[in-house]
Amino acid sequence: MNVEFFRGLRPQAEGPARRDAPVRELPPPETLLVPMPGARHAAFRAVKEGDAVAQYQPLSQPQTAAPACSPAAGTVEEFRTVDHPLLGPVLCAVLRVKPGGPAPARPPLLARTPEALETAARNAGILDECSGEPLYRLLKTFRRFGVPALCAWAAGEEPFPGGTEAAFLSAPAETASGLRLAADSCGAQECCVAVRDRRLLRVPWTEGAGLPELREVGARVPAWAFFEQRFRARGLRVGRVGAQACAALYRAVERGVPQVETVVTVAGEGVERPGHFRVPAGYPLRALLEASGLKEGARVVLGSPFTGAAAPDETIPVCLGMHTVLALPHARERRPFACVGCGRCAAVCPERLFPYRYAEHRENGAPLSHAELAAAARCGGCRCCEAVCPAGLALEEAVRLVTEGGTP
Ligand code: SF4
Ligand code: SF4
Repeated sequence: MNVEFFRGLRPQAEGPARRDAPVRELPPPETLLVPMPGARHAAFRAVKEGDAVAQYQPLSQPQTAAPACSPAAGTVEEFRTVDHPLLGPVLCAVLRVKPGGPAPARPPLLARTPEALETAARNAGILDECSGEPLYRLLKTFRRFGVPALCAWAAGEEPFPGGTEAAFLSAPAETASGLRLAADSCGAQECCVAVRDRRLLRVPWTEGAGLPELREVGARVPAWAFFEQRFRARGLRVGRVGAQACAALYRAVERGVPQVETVVTVAGEGVERPGHFRVPAGYPLRALLEASGLKEGARVVLGSPFTGAAAPDETIPVCLGMHTVLALPHARERRPFACVGCGRCAAVCPERLFPYRYAEHRENGAPLSHAELAAAARCGGCRCCEAVCPAGLALEEAVRLVTEGGTP
């Protein structure tokens, strides 16, 4: 991983993963463990044990969360509380799936006022995969604060591909239409889709002819922060909605279909067959990882390698909002490096060196570039870097050892 302070990180993904690979379907499981956020109290459940449910039937009616709908027809066998890394302790309905065709289509929503769109997003149980918030609540917030620009995030999970990107590439028109609906709901005038690489889009995309502008995010991380800066520079505030949430809003409005599935990208060196999968809520994470060829000893992270949550237990179910599962190889042997990454040493160095790089080289054997090796000779030994280092590292010595050739 390459690190560049002050200008963001420029990480590189490890392991093969095609961003534009098709989204695969997995065989339906016999049992789903459907998360029902906000329904721990029986008053907020719409079904009880033993009930037969139809596909898309609401399972819960929570006050503060989005309702959960049944991804398939079946029977509710029991309720079980699961300690989920993304949701916390959450009540799940154990659904014994009954084989059968999809539920019949419902009529489209005719009244498309901001309030009606918000209600459609709420009833469809749509979760924004970027913020983890119910979509209706996010749109309400954007409307209240008068956000003038709205962005559908389809740039993946830095630096890996992600479900937001795969969902957009597999159904770009639905995302674009849903983004327009979301903008109508919150009153945003300007729309765009943030993508990693527009060349991955295999369909014609004529901006201005009813389609929002495609904007590429750069390679720097955190990508959203740098992307948002471009709007700030124009004096604009921008709201972000996940591409999957946009597409789900389109399906809710046009077909009356609630959000019951998510596109999950499984990536990283810890799997043999990385790819994108369309899975219903409640699908066992273990089955998803088995389909991807999880390697022995790999660590599983839900979400970004920077901000994601470790999955301590593969028995947890896939939930709405889960879009990226990273399987990382077993931890490499590294000595702990006390540097907190504050950058003060570099800020005070009169020779404009990056002393923490030499300390990391000394501690962990991190490779130094030719330029860094040559620059070490400029060190005047003033020890300003050591004076400001909150970790108390022997930085001057680390730089000096490089010039003397005494490093690992
Ligand atoms: S000791 Fe060397 S690296 Fe540290 S601040 Fe002084 S010149 Fe820079
Ligand atoms: S001052 Fe110390 S803690 Fe901060 S970046 Fe430099 S080496 Fe790391």
